[in-house]
Amino acid sequence: MSDQVAVALRRIRERIEAAGGDLGSVRILPVTKGHPVSAVRAARAAGLREAGESYAQELLAKAEEVDDVRWHMIGRLQSNKVRQIAGFVRLWQTIDRLSLAGEVARRSPGAQVLVQVNVTGAAQQGGCPPERVAALTEGCTDLGLEVRGLMALGPVGSPEASRAAFRRVRELADGLGLPERSMGMSGDLEVAVAEGSTLVRIGTALFGPRAGVSAVGN
Ligand SMILES: *Cc1c(COP(=O)(O)O)cnc(C)c1O
Repeated sequence: MSDQVAVALRRIRERIEAAGGDLGSVRILPVTKGHPVSAVRAARAAGLREAGESYAQELLAKAEEVDDVRWHMIGRLQSNKVRQIAGFVRLWQTIDRLSLAGEVARRSPGAQVLVQVNVTGAAQQGGCPPERVAALTEGCTDLGLEVRGLMALGPVGSPEASRAAFRRVRELADGLGLPERSMGMSGDLEVAVAEGSTLVRIGTALFGPRAGVSAVGN
């Protein structure tokens, strides 16, 4: 698996550069949900030191087996799951409501977070409405959390359909002076990079198709 992942990673870096991205300012987050722990190890062997998971249980299971990886929580999160994974998560990417922020602040004081913004209107994707991002960011800061930036999912459909959504994320982040913009996945990373992504979350293009059916954002 390591060799395949290393080859896939080179290809992703080429895609980022071809889209006008600078590899020094666009990070690649391997998304290992739906893949065995060997995927985490392969990504680690290829030089990636972070990994993203969408489900608390799955994150926990893998985190207990591999140390030396900085975990990102990228899925919709219920407050009652925060406690279990707080010891492992280094970046909470899906903070979309103050109650969740409060629980993260309680279990992991001073944690780094991203505010997830819903720029597509699709309720199942989670995220707070764009007009509430500023207030939620302030609320997180008041709780002692370190808001690094914003995270968003593009609309389902053609990659080009993501462009307006990602542009909006960029504008919102710039307006709030936030440096990190987590946007772009295997299918729409070029558009995301062109619109200013600093962190692309890549599953399929690195590890192949997932075994189970994992709805995006869950
Ligand atoms: C599954 C998932 C990804 C990775 O998706 P791919 O299309 O496999 O690259 C990225 N972000 C989130 C939030 C996800 O749930």
